[in-house]
Amino acid sequence: MTTVERQQWDVVVVGAGGAGLRAAIEAREQGARTAVICKSLFGKAHTVMAEGGIAASMGNVNDGDNWQVHFRDTMRGGKFLNQWRMAELHAQEAPDRVWELETWGALFDRTKDGRISQRNFGGHEYPRLAHVGDRTGLELIRTLQQKIVSLQQEDFKQLGDYEAGLKVFQECTVTRILKDDVDGKVAGVFCYERESGRFFVIEAPTVILATGGIGKSFKVTSNSWEYTGDGHALALLAGAPLLNMEFVQFHPTGMVWPPSVKGILVTESVRGDGGVLRNSEGKRFMFDYIPDVFKEKYAESEEEGDRWYEDPDRNRRPPELLPRDEVARAINSEVKAGRGSPHGGVFLDVSSRMPADVIRRRLPSMYHQFKELADVDITAEAMEVGPTCHYVMGGIAVESDTAAALGVPGLYAAGEVAGGMHGSNRLGGNSLSDLLVFGRRAGLHAAQYAASVAENRPVVEEAQIDLAAAEALRPFSAEGPDESLVEGGPVPAGGRPAENPYTLHQELQQTMNDLVGIIRREEEMSQALKKLADLRVRARRAGVEGHRQFNPGWHLALDLRNMLLVSECIARSALERTESRGGHTREDFPGMDRAWRRVNLLCQLADPTGGLAATDPVRGQIRLVRKETEPIRPDLLALFEKEELVKYLAEEELFE
Ligand code: FAD
Repeated sequence: MTTVERQQWDVVVVGAGGAGLRAAIEAREQGARTAVICKSLFGKAHTVMAEGGIAASMGNVNDGDNWQVHFRDTMRGGKFLNQWRMAELHAQEAPDRVWELETWGALFDRTKDGRISQRNFGGHEYPRLAHVGDRTGLELIRTLQQKIVSLQQEDFKQLGDYEAGLKVFQECTVTRILKDDVDGKVAGVFCYERESGRFFVIEAPTVILATGGIGKSFKVTSNSWEYTGDGHALALLAGAPLLNMEFVQFHPTGMVWPPSVKGILVTESVRGDGGVLRNSEGKRFMFDYIPDVFKEKYAESEEEGDRWYEDPDRNRRPPELLPRDEVARAINSEVKAGRGSPHGGVFLDVSSRMPADVIRRRLPSMYHQFKELADVDITAEAMEVGPTCHYVMGGIAVESDTAAALGVPGLYAAGEVAGGMHGSNRLGGNSLSDLLVFGRRAGLHAAQYAASVAENRPVVEEAQIDLAAAEALRPFSAEGPDESLVEGGPVPAGGRPAENPYTLHQELQQTMNDLVGIIRREEEMSQALKKLADLRVRARRAGVEGHRQFNPGWHLALDLRNMLLVSECIARSALERTESRGGHTREDFPGMDRAWRRVNLLCQLADPTGGLAATDPVRGQIRLVRKETEPIRPDLLALFEKEELVKYLAEEELFE
């Protein structure tokens, strides 16, 4: 039996990005004793990297904007696969969440008449992104942290303890959600402290997952080291399904050179503020890639596109501002056709479009990023850019209003880890607003749920803790007999040698990049599933040397379980969906199929007991279930022209 410290809280929030912090603030304000756990340093969540802004239809720059237009844009961007009620709530509540940030101390850039400034972004009909230069995420996190500190000061005044009602456990990683053996309700989490390697358990009737995305499963990504799909995997292992995992967003503009920085994001604000994309022949190629569904909304000529920046009411926007999936595919095609830049991207130019001082003022981070990392002065020359894995639209299936995960009482999810909101493709700026809207809702409903079970709290049995501890310690004794079903041949005396977690990670990233990347083919995805099965078996022998005190190799060995699970979800779902839509492009099924609009793909663990050991190499760890999408409410459908709906909805839906 492992002796592990236990603490009791009402709500545990896993993740301290925008979603986690907003959830924690709400839960604490509802009176729930709330613990926040984050695997990185407090303040170094992914949200801090957000550059361009937060989408909210405040109408400060164009008063034609309102929540209905934002809702329409979001549904179009997601190609109508969005969980429409989420898209509705998001569009309605985003302006309040931005105002609220200002009341908590955020200071957004202003218009000339002193209102919060809003900038253009791909897929948004009006200038809609509230921003702080190109460092919006930093201001968002700084403000939420400040709010947390102010709540802790209130607690100190009343209770003499800063951490009585709200405590942050930084550099701690959750490896399992614990459940009550009797009724299957959430009972807490099992974690380890990264610095000391010490295990501990937080007992709580509600867990809010706010762990962000999955980008580290891909080789070229804008995401940082924490994005190993932990929340996705924790939910699966606890019995909650993941929704539409095939939809992964490849942002069109990541750095392509030098190799050490490949994938780092070049914000969409560059294009929102006037930057244009050109191929090696100097052509603004995006005019050749406007799909039929968007034809009426985008400029036909460079002149019209350029006029739009000054006079948006009488001109249409340039195609550089199409949704990200369209731009990423276009860049991919140009490079493939041999019209790419020297390092395998295309050119993104602001230098010929704005004076140098305006570029430095509006895009300070981009200016420094290119100067310092690539020795390129973006006020004088074009950047080289190409697609990079950026965001996952798929995620934990949740109830739209409450953010409750399906199937596991007490489990909630918000932010990038939750699915549904963005359908098959997210519009830029819609993540920061999503974090705040659904972070607040998750905190509210989790606190209410925790209060409702206060008299009858779920119980964590010792046996569960022992299992979680044994699983976490496994990499220290990884050599030994091979339990795999896949690898043939005799097992050498003493067992097979341990596998290096870094090598396994590299192989996984290469597999996902090459075989389940931006353009997908049946044969390659089947190959990827075989490779993932092999990696899974080898990952069970991922071994590390040394001890539990800060040991990054050990941490990675544990993260591999999560990355392998989510990668299998992505590959399986991508193979199943025989159409192209949003962030899922099939070379063998290039068109969007209206019949598929009605289909959600849910991933569940094949072994319902939550075990991973007896993995069938062929069937894998994941089972796919098809679930029909909920019909869109008629008053929301009425916001669209009939001619537009015909492009998206299935015959029977139109008939209904
Ligand atoms: P995060 O902010 O990533 O927080 C996740 C948290 O979970 C972290 O604290 C992490 O340590 C913790 N965690 C993870 N696993 C565990 C575990 N096992 N145990 C404990 N803790 C764990 N979106 C926009 O809307 N506008 C933009 O301008 C924009 N720009 C972007 C620029 C870049 C470079 C990138 C990469 C993304 C950008 N996005 C933008 C997307 C947006 O930033 C993210 O989708 C969003 O910040 C995710 O927030 P989150 O709260 O869900 O997760």
